[in-house]
Amino acid sequence: MKDTHKHKGLRNQLVKIIAQKGITDKNVLTALGNVPRHLFMDSSFADFAYQDKAFPIGCDQTISQPYTVAFQTELLQVKEQHQILEIGTGSGYQTAVLLEMGAKVYTIERQKELFKKAKLFLPKLGYKPKKIIFGDGYKGLLENAPFDGIIVTAGAPFVPNALLSQLKVGGRLVIPIGDTEQIMTLFIRTSEKDFEKHELGKFKFVPMLTKRN
Ligand code: SAH
Repeated sequence: MKDTHKHKGLRNQLVKIIAQKGITDKNVLTALGNVPRHLFMDSSFADFAYQDKAFPIGCDQTISQPYTVAFQTELLQVKEQHQILEIGTGSGYQTAVLLEMGAKVYTIERQKELFKKAKLFLPKLGYKPKKIIFGDGYKGLLENAPFDGIIVTAGAPFVPNALLSQLKVGGRLVIPIGDTEQIMTLFIRTSEKDFEKHELGKFKFVPMLTKRN
């Protein structure tokens, strides 16, 4: 497991491309520049790690496209010490980006294999989420709610009410909604009862699973 000058160079190139695509938040770009994405992928795909593309990570899942990770993270407006809940740990790459930004991260994964892998792997790189949980993201994480931000990294067929109700007032839920194609949707909780909703363009995610494998 190595992070070389070559990798860092490739990563800087990738960050430039993401900035050109419209991501302006310096903290997000710095975080992407710091996380060694090639180590989150199967070594046979490592050469592709710094292309702006999604890639298979096993169990029919993908590591999200770096631009998508940046886009969702920017929408969350992460500040240091924020309590952030991630649904869909997958490779742990998005988790690492959030940790680089100084957030306290809770992350839930539905598939046992991926959960086990991320739980072992993240600490090896020095990334320490508050919790990595094998469970159902539709329910959120009541015991650690409320959250400053909740990010869903799989395509959700609808907005789970549990996730909205576990936001702080002022908190943000970033969730791609739809079946074959998703609309990136941002909910901001403006009071106990009220939410603002913003739709921010089309994306393609693997579906959020309802059954445990
Ligand atoms: N954030 C990941 C993206 C992984 S793809 C990364 O950076 O690599 C989406 C992930 O969501 C998959 O690992 C999938 O198994 C998981 N997932 C799907 N449905 C889920 C659910 N209901 N609860 C929690 N995780 C879920």
